[in-house]
Amino acid sequence: MTARVWHVSMECVPFSKVGGMADVVGALPAALRGVGVDARVLTPYYPQLYRGEVGAEVGAFDVWIGDAPHRVRLLEAGPHTVLVDQPTAFDRPGVYDDPTRGEGFDDSLFRCLVLQLAARVAFQRGILEADIVHCHDNHTGILPAYVKDDGGPKSVFTIHNLAYQGVYGADQFWLTGLSSDRFYGHSAFEYYGDLSLMKSGLLHADLVTTVSPSYAAEIVRPEFGQGLDGALRGLGERLVGVINGIDTDLWNPATDELLPFPFDASDPSRKADVTRALRERTGLNDDPASPLLGMVSRVTHQKGLDLVGSILPHLMRRGAQVVLLGSGDASILDLFRGAAGRWPGRVGLLTGYDESLAHLVYGGADVFLMPSRFEPCGLSQMYAMRYGAVPVVTKMGGLNDTVPPFDEKSGEGVGVLADWATAESFQGAVDYALDLWPRKRLFSQMRTNAMKRDFDWERSAARYAELYEQVLSA
Ligand code: ADP
Repeated sequence: MTARVWHVSMECVPFSKVGGMADVVGALPAALRGVGVDARVLTPYYPQLYRGEVGAEVGAFDVWIGDAPHRVRLLEAGPHTVLVDQPTAFDRPGVYDDPTRGEGFDDSLFRCLVLQLAARVAFQRGILEADIVHCHDNHTGILPAYVKDDGGPKSVFTIHNLAYQGVYGADQFWLTGLSSDRFYGHSAFEYYGDLSLMKSGLLHADLVTTVSPSYAAEIVRPEFGQGLDGALRGLGERLVGVINGIDTDLWNPATDELLPFPFDASDPSRKADVTRALRERTGLNDDPASPLLGMVSRVTHQKGLDLVGSILPHLMRRGAQVVLLGSGDASILDLFRGAAGRWPGRVGLLTGYDESLAHLVYGGADVFLMPSRFEPCGLSQMYAMRYGAVPVVTKMGGLNDTVPPFDEKSGEGVGVLADWATAESFQGAVDYALDLWPRKRLFSQMRTNAMKRDFDWERSAARYAELYEQVLSA
């Protein structure tokens, strides 16, 4: 039997993207179809974020949130995707926030309820047919409870980032429409007196996965469990780490139309031209002897870019150039803005979210910095490797699983790992990469290893297929 699996997610490339989850939900279903799973996606239609065509209506109904009905339309977008159209919830400039409504405005519970209730009703009415619903992160953490309540499909819940938990006041629980006797309690939604959608996902799903084996091992410990380590430990073998892949067609430096020049592992010579273009774009000196250190990131505490900020004087003394493309925390961005003023031609800051600049930074950088304090999987380091930017990362979560350290003797390995997310430890790791830089043969060996590393989805898709079988036969 071919398992029918619906992925439900607030983000999915090309319809929306905030972080790596969007790439995963955009690529994994196709990889699953490649290994014989009938995988499809249900995700919101954000008309302000997705300007492409949408197809026919496949269903229309009301969903009830609290005591108010909201009209939902399901629209086809290609053969494997259905979009949830509900303008009050999704006709906005952002996935999770709405800057036009002012600081502090938050109706995220309403928005994710629209998506999850649309899924629930579509399964109840047979508009969508599923053996398994595969839910992604806290915004879909109620759905496993819904399908359990309905005796509907089985559920798999994937943690992409435990730090975002969807915690709301307990007084909002009634909006879910679930019976509080059955679903509100310590072994369900209740989280230190509030309600946590993440916790609901963990405790109601038939199987919980997260996006790397190392992260799966970290989050059962109190220091990384974000208050849910007890619940996670309780899952035992029902918590599984499966590493993400990347879309190697979309992220291919040999065919990437967002790069000014193509290159690949067998002929990386034109990478130098991309580096020159990046320098031009960011106002850096045209100094090919200087190693160019790049970053592309959400700028949050998690990503540890403040650590790079604090070692910038050292990096300047070592003759490096630095480029950050990022958006987020104003104080960290200010630090880089200040540095760009202090070291003109050597530090570049690109603010905002820009897909084509991201490709340019991956393609142009010699070294990619990712000093995450924790990292469930991380995709950026994989894109960087594929584009010939050698990763220097902390030894956390998925970074630990995707960046085997370079070893001078054997010539194996793809990057450099810092043991700790501290400025001192990270500086030591960057220093090693900078020591290797003038030793051209070794550096290019490390870069070739990185570019040739296999990040294809195939193996991980096969693992998910196996897990689906397990869930269905349980
Ligand atoms: P996370 O999901 O925690 O943000 P990942 O490394 O898994 O981290 O994924 C980040 C994704 O977002 C990558 O595809 C990266 O290229 C992209 N990205 C992050 N910041 C920016 C930005 N400012 N402009 C363009 N792309 C960005």
